[in-house]
Amino acid sequence: MNKLKLFNPNRQLASFVSAMSILVLSSISMSLAQSVGTLPVVPQPQHKPLVVLISIDGYRNDYMSRGFTPTLKRLADAGTYADNFTPVFPSITFPNHYSLVTGLYPDHHGLVNNTMQDPSKTKQIFKLSDRESVTNPFWYEEATPIWISAKQQGKIVSTLFWPGTEVLNHGLRPDDWLNYDDNMSSDKRVDQLLEWLNRDESKRADFATLYFSEVDHAGHEFGPDALEVNEALKRVDAAIERFVKGLERLDLLKDTTFVITSDHGMAHVAQDHIINLSMVLESTKSAKLVWMGPVAGFNVESVDAEPMLERLKAYPHMSCWHKSKIPPEYHFGTHRRIPGIFCLADVGWSILPNLGMKVIPGMHGYDARAKEMQGLFIVAGPGVKKQTLAVVNNIDVYSFLTRLIKIKPEPNDGEDILFKQIMD
Ligand SMILES: [Zn+2]
Repeated sequence: MNKLKLFNPNRQLASFVSAMSILVLSSISMSLAQSVGTLPVVPQPQHKPLVVLISIDGYRNDYMSRGFTPTLKRLADAGTYADNFTPVFPSITFPNHYSLVTGLYPDHHGLVNNTMQDPSKTKQIFKLSDRESVTNPFWYEEATPIWISAKQQGKIVSTLFWPGTEVLNHGLRPDDWLNYDDNMSSDKRVDQLLEWLNRDESKRADFATLYFSEVDHAGHEFGPDALEVNEALKRVDAAIERFVKGLERLDLLKDTTFVITSDHGMAHVAQDHIINLSMVLESTKSAKLVWMGPVAGFNVESVDAEPMLERLKAYPHMSCWHKSKIPPEYHFGTHRRIPGIFCLADVGWSILPNLGMKVIPGMHGYDARAKEMQGLFIVAGPGVKKQTLAVVNNIDVYSFLTRLIKIKPEPNDGEDILFKQIMD
């Protein structure tokens, strides 16, 4: 019976492992042959499972077809892949990373943009270039991210970057974390996480995060179609291959479930696709433009709001609303950190206060349903079905993760549908 079991391992695990690398597969086959040919089979000790949530910032779904990410392709072919991974709105980095780990829309978790003001905290502006604001728990504490629930429920967590992992939440932090260092190479990030995972099982993580930024940076700076994006894709894919091989060396690969995502896609913005607001800003002196780009926001005195909104509505290539009138499908507009008047540009357009500002060639933040905003979603590991799903939504990933890690979820906005769809 033992022999039979060994020769007939879980089908999904077998296909997953075979996809990892030929090297890995051949070493497993050799050990199978050796044990079957000689002594009765001794069951291998089972490690506790490891769930790794990986984000490749700005990986647009169609990048997969470019052929520069063979490791991701192998993982996708071995497990579950989504043709479309739909962000939450706005399709921006911090809002989406926090939705992935809370299951809450930005209206409910409070990270409504990468730049924010809060009427109750007038002295600090949240912006990514200001470390003091990014590491201030105030901005994050309206939600309980999954690593905090995991800690509260006795799990061990190692986070090699993820928005919010640097701050205390409910008095807790991940067991391993670092202050964000954008200059840390993708390979170094992998090596650091592997070092944290190279521990006695009683101290090793049940849940880990890994975050790669360079595909997003190349997409912004050069546009999504640039060769520089392809080069960044190759480097990140090589880093993931390095991670897979490292897990194999630590004998953790067969117990690891990978959930690989991105926060949003990327759209090309032509240099002349500017929605220039200089006229309307001059005519409404009380209006302050606090967000610009694919989404714009104005703080404005209430007496000026209606006439200003009327003027904004006359502009082509964008839609504007009072924050309370944003259509319900965006799930956006109730949080106090959202400015009073909100505008959304058509995909590929940028809302700017004048013509003197540089147009960034690649942008995101647009309607999350737009094809250019679709991101990446792969699950691979033991018991994962080999299939392609048409669409997976960011907001539903949190419940799936809590089931994989076996923790009780916090109340959230997502649907608990993915575990049944993805796992055997
Ligand atoms: Zn991003």
